[in-house]
Amino acid sequence: MHRHHVLLITYPAQGHINPSLQLAKRLINLGARVTVSTTVHMHRRMSDKPSIRGLSFVPFSDGFDDGFTLSDDSNYDHYMTEYERRGTEFVTDLINSAAEEGQHPFTCVVYTFLQNWVAEAARAFHLPSVVLWPQPAVLLDIHYYYFHGYRDYINEKITKEPSSCSLELPGLPRLQPSCDLPSFYLESNNSISKYRNSFIASLIEKQFRHLDQEVKPRILANTFEALEPDALRAVDDKLDVIPIGPLIPSAFLDVEKDGDGDSSYGGNIFKHSNDYVEWLDSQAERSVVYVSFGSFWVLAKKQMEEMARALLDSRHPFLWVIRKKEKKEKEKEEEEDEELSCREELEARGKIVEWCSQVEVLSHGSLGCFVTHCGWNSTMESLASGVPMVAFPQWVDQKTNAKLIEDVWKTGVRVDREEEEEEGVVEAGEIKRCVEVVMGSGEKAKELRENADKWKMLAREAVKEGGSSEQNLRTFLHQVHDLLPQSR
Ligand code: UDP
Repeated sequence: MHRHHVLLITYPAQGHINPSLQLAKRLINLGARVTVSTTVHMHRRMSDKPSIRGLSFVPFSDGFDDGFTLSDDSNYDHYMTEYERRGTEFVTDLINSAAEEGQHPFTCVVYTFLQNWVAEAARAFHLPSVVLWPQPAVLLDIHYYYFHGYRDYINEKITKEPSSCSLELPGLPRLQPSCDLPSFYLESNNSISKYRNSFIASLIEKQFRHLDQEVKPRILANTFEALEPDALRAVDDKLDVIPIGPLIPSAFLDVEKDGDGDSSYGGNIFKHSNDYVEWLDSQAERSVVYVSFGSFWVLAKKQMEEMARALLDSRHPFLWVIRKKEKKEKEKEEEEDEELSCREELEARGKIVEWCSQVEVLSHGSLGCFVTHCGWNSTMESLASGVPMVAFPQWVDQKTNAKLIEDVWKTGVRVDREEEEEEGVVEAGEIKRCVEVVMGSGEKAKELRENADKWKMLAREAVKEGGSSEQNLRTFLHQVHDLLPQSR
């Protein structure tokens, strides 16, 4: 087999960059060469880019080399139009020049979801392209159903009986529309969320319409066979969903190290110091509550105060990631007094950091519980590390992920929200209740820990040599190779 050269285009967000870099490393381990591209701005921000033989980075300009903040909602569609236009030009030129140089022409293009322009550029060169799906297969199915015949059924359930009925979609667990569906299916009174939600919905629809043009398009999914056996098959007459996850650095999956320094994702867009490691080392086994809401979401000040109170009242040591606000977020909230009222007490009783290496934190023996926004990467990392969760979802896919964590995999409890609205504040007492369930000594805590241990073991099985995800990726590479014109 000729050596593959994969072009991997990742959307400029930490939640896309992390699994992409991990996929790049796995492909290289299977003998491929990989070129990773994202925007100049993100490329500059990635402080610790992995340096591995066979991996190269070629960034492109989206016209916002000094950054574009998502809170500029009214500009987001302008941003995406520019991103697509400039990205298409870049991908076309890059494929062209690699082919002309003749030494390492591309053999396949992989792109994270919502960038179907990449596939169109690849198609002009008859290059196979494939989506990297960065969420659970269940969500892929829900979206697929919604845009293929179930829209009216889902909308009717949402409008008529959102919190009392259950939504039944073939091959999927029963969902309660008001709290288990991705946020953009639900109307919100908040105009910012409404705008973002409808914009994301239109991007998802566009991506599906593009996939509809192919017969059984292949989709690489950051999940694994044992985790979602039914969802992976729910629409298998239409989509070839290939589970290749968890896409987590191998050092955290007990997979034999291959000398590539694979002990971090290596693409952090936020700076951090490492002093929390020493702090974690000084804590008792399974005693620490880790709190993080990912790379994007910022809790409202009121919610932060409730979280602070809950952490102080529950009396466990805690590590809390509070990201520094980006400039635009700050401007929006200039009225608010930024500092938490009990910051001093928090710092005396726990550890607050601006960012950390989350995979490292989750694999630390002192971790007892993860209070998470249920971003998919965080969810997978927690599952693969065997850490039970308090699920505190905010928007997009996170509510569905929370449902899976609580009801299907049974590795966490979900905070109860009085109003199922994004801006509804969850009170300290409720957060504390959930932390106590997970950290306590009762039957429920035992069950959660046992399940967490089980998923940790199964996640590792999937990625070890001969495991289902490892085999799937290997087979995928062979199949794609067979699609190539003979001349390559
Ligand atoms: N992350 C990290 N340090 C932090 C917070 C998050 O390394 O302090 C990483 C985390 O390990 C995950 C990613 O950032 O890989 C966040 O992705 P996720 O899908 O969980 O959430 P998003 O940021 O997309 O909302």
